[in-house]
Amino acid sequence: MTLGTGPSGVKLIFAHDTEVALAAAAALVNSVDADTEQLPDVAALDDFVRRWGFTGNRDRDEAELRAVRRLRPMLRQFWELDDEQVVESANALLREASALPQLVKHDGWDYHLHATPPDAPLATRMAVEAAMAVVDVVRSKELSRLRICTHPGCGNVVVDLSKNRSKRFCDAGCGNKAAAAAYRARKAEKS
Ligand SMILES: [Zn+2]
Ligand SMILES: [Zn+2]
Repeated sequence: MTLGTGPSGVKLIFAHDTEVALAAAAALVNSVDADTEQLPDVAALDDFVRRWGFTGNRDRDEAELRAVRRLRPMLRQFWELDDEQVVESANALLREASALPQLVKHDGWDYHLHATPPDAPLATRMAVEAAMAVVDVVRSKELSRLRICTHPGCGNVVVDLSKNRSKRFCDAGCGNKAAAAAYRARKAEKS
């Protein structure tokens, strides 16, 4: 696997670790909305951590869970603020965590960046990983790929990694919902 090429040989928009970190950050932000909390307890956080391959130290207690939940509105800012504010916010996160970028290899992952030691708190590692990915996005002038799902009333964040920048809906089924609504509208027009 060469840099910038995915496992299938498809050209990536960003480095592989950046794309994974963006997807993980989006999933974390989208784990809460007005009526659902997908991280209600430590077991749910365990699942999330496993699913997204976060390594390193875990406390597995309520304080850790609360810290991760508190991180979500902060990360959401990366999708909502303008470029200058995103830069400010990413820099602040990196500064507060005393981030120190190091190339590492582990668990079958080829060289990628870690900017926190493995014993840093989980929420700090999540924050820094997201901020480092955003640094990459800003440097590539691709912040427009971080946007909000256009399905009415959704509000989930979207990472558009498509070649033609065509991804409009989040991964929670809004694409299907929009297609169904369009179908119903066409049907109603005919009758
Ligand atoms: Zn790693
Ligand atoms: Zn959506």
